[in-house]
Amino acid sequence: MDEQGMTKEQRRAEILDGASIAEEIKREVAVEAARLKSVYGVTPCLVVVRVGDDPASEVYVRSKVKTSEQLGLLSEHCALPAATSEARLLAEIAKLNEREEVDGILVQLPLPRHINEALVLEAIDPAKDVDGFHALNVGLLSLGRPAFVPCTPAGVVEMLEREGVEICGAHACVVGRSQIVGRPLAQLLLQRDATVTVCHSRTPDLAAHTRRADILVAAVGRVGLIRHEHVKPGATVIDVGMNKLTDEAEARNFFGEQAEERVETIRRRGYTLVGDVHPAEVGRVAGRLTPVPGGVGPLTVAMLMKNAVTAARRRRGDLKARA
Ligand code: NAP
Repeated sequence: MDEQGMTKEQRRAEILDGASIAEEIKREVAVEAARLKSVYGVTPCLVVVRVGDDPASEVYVRSKVKTSEQLGLLSEHCALPAATSEARLLAEIAKLNEREEVDGILVQLPLPRHINEALVLEAIDPAKDVDGFHALNVGLLSLGRPAFVPCTPAGVVEMLEREGVEICGAHACVVGRSQIVGRPLAQLLLQRDATVTVCHSRTPDLAAHTRRADILVAAVGRVGLIRHEHVKPGATVIDVGMNKLTDEAEARNFFGEQAEERVETIRRRGYTLVGDVHPAEVGRVAGRLTPVPGGVGPLTVAMLMKNAVTAARRRRGDLKARA
């Protein structure tokens, strides 16, 4: 029994509702976009560049374009065929850099294998780099200076702050060290005075590190890697992972009481989305937990919109107003 008189089996983590936090951020972005319109006569403009016909990328791009329009931003979708040469893509980016009315440029990843991703990302004008992947923005972030921060880690921190999770003085453990999530997130947590441990595929005895964390973030891409033995009781657990689960028996193991709904989704769609955290096990140990879907995912798009409006603001020298 714990202090609330609940047995271990009855205890449940509070579920952090990323979708409603994302809605709140989007409302603020819409207000800021309207302000830019009335003060400067400017409508922030985001261009999303996609190369090839990867269906997942198409879904992501459509959702970004649609959200921009809902919030009063202008958006363009530049769709190029899979055979587009690196030189042609670089030329397209150079044109977008030159266009005065374009505030944000995003190149949807992954790119086809014949294109050098780093070269393309660094061709984007850093002042329009709303994904925050340009080396200049990565460097500014590590110096703790204002920069465009990659949207997923920015969303994780925004969620922690809006939910009142104490970061200063907390031990935060980030599992995963990618340029897109793990590394920038570690920087952001460090800047907010957490003591940060970063784990990766070569970390021996992962649980020895994760079990010490007050804030545990999993950004790995391995279905249900984080189990009950990895989690300190009462910790806040943020699941960034987004993986497809196709096996009905595994879905039953993962989702406990919600399993039937997930099994139904697998039958209908062929898969259900699952994170890097085992929800049924960790839900009985953690204090707070993000769901998949509906946790970090919606925040990523909301933070992209926030970055686009920030780009429009900074390009007009408007540095004082909130983003
Ligand atoms: P990534 O580039 O593949 O990086 C994965 C990281 O996990 C690497 O640092 C890797 O270590 C580490 N890792 C792999 N196996 C491990 C293990 N067994 N134990 C500990 N660490 C391990 O992936 P990513 O782009 O960061 O994405 C991670 C996950 O987040 C994916 O599921 C992705 O779909 C999801 N994601 C979600 C959103 C969202 O909006 N919700 C956005 C971005 C990504 P090494 O460095 O040693 O290889």
